[in-house]
Amino acid sequence: MTDIFDSVKKMASVDRNPYLDAAIADGSKVIGYFCSYVPEEIIHAAGMIPYRMRAVDNRGTDRGSVYYSAINCSFVRSCFGKALEGDFSFLDGIVFSNGCDHLRRMYDNWRYAGTGPRFRHMFVAPHITGDTALVRFTDELRGFAGSIENHYGVKISVDALKDSVRLYNEKRRLLAQLYEYRKSGEVPVRGSELLSLMLAVTMMPAVDAINLIRDVLAAVPGRAVSGKDDIRVYISSGCMEETAHLELIESCGAAIVADNLCLGSRHFDTIADEEGDPYESLARRYLRHLSCPRMMNSFKQRLDFLENAFSEYAVDAVIAEKLKFCDLWGGDMYLMKQESRKKRFPILLLERELYGGGDGQIRTRVQAFVEQVRNKIYSETGMVRAAGAGYRTSGK
Ligand code: SF4
Repeated sequence: MTDIFDSVKKMASVDRNPYLDAAIADGSKVIGYFCSYVPEEIIHAAGMIPYRMRAVDNRGTDRGSVYYSAINCSFVRSCFGKALEGDFSFLDGIVFSNGCDHLRRMYDNWRYAGTGPRFRHMFVAPHITGDTALVRFTDELRGFAGSIENHYGVKISVDALKDSVRLYNEKRRLLAQLYEYRKSGEVPVRGSELLSLMLAVTMMPAVDAINLIRDVLAAVPGRAVSGKDDIRVYISSGCMEETAHLELIESCGAAIVADNLCLGSRHFDTIADEEGDPYESLARRYLRHLSCPRMMNSFKQRLDFLENAFSEYAVDAVIAEKLKFCDLWGGDMYLMKQESRKKRFPILLLERELYGGGDGQIRTRVQAFVEQVRNKIYSETGMVRAAGAGYRTSGK
């Protein structure tokens, strides 16, 4: 019998999975979107399937680099290269985002190249939180819904949007339950497996996604995947979709138990209020969920989330990553390094290219880091701790 985690991994490694294919065959429209600030609920309430854009199965950055500069990150160059290859020809529309300036340029390049579907919407999310930003963002959400209504000749009713809010809340609650299992004791699900699941459930109809997460949840109790001497790691990064990269880290003795990833905690952290105006509740949810460094006044929120993970998930150490040329995550990693000195938690900073190889060098650095953290645990406790025993090295 095929293991559910193997099936999920297979689904995550391609642009389309059987659930998406079945929905397309039934006549459903699929709308691609970039970034965790675009509300999937609005696309769903219009009767369409939101599809989180990714560069899986990419064939390099050569084509994307014709339009982009070589000092743009490899996520945007890979994704755009795939668009030029026609890999996203099944999409009926695309929502671009000002997540960062590299991503924002995707909108321009897509238009210059004249590729892809006719519906191309530029979604603009504020770069700060606060009351003024909330008002502005609520307007943006209404404008986004109006843009879909005008282009496709559909109506997004308030009731339909409320139903979508409830459905996506359910999906987020289930994902949160899955993370609960990693809070203590043996680690029952790998970080790489969760990344696969996130990739899979962000490219299929929401009801199928919910059923799939339930199946995974049912397979988790009693499962143990961490090694006896594994350290417990928190990982943070922006555009990360390479499951093989996380497998490499895990094979070095680092059990990933918590994260701040787009395709991780940021996807399900904070649910939308199911009462009241759904645009206002979605604006609050998307503006205030666990942030990434594009939010200029939210470093404290990310730091509080990390500190909480030390106690809730018994985290021993942090791995913070960025893609080359990503200034947003570069700035955040600098701040995290300062915090690690003040609060005495071990941190490893990694820089990589999306699907860029360099595995040997990464392995050497992670192995050395894991050894260093193990020695720290040993010197503080006099014993090598089994993964999940709940020891913290942060000195708090
Ligand atoms: S990795 Fe950084 S530069 Fe690239 S799209 Fe993500 S946030 Fe933007």
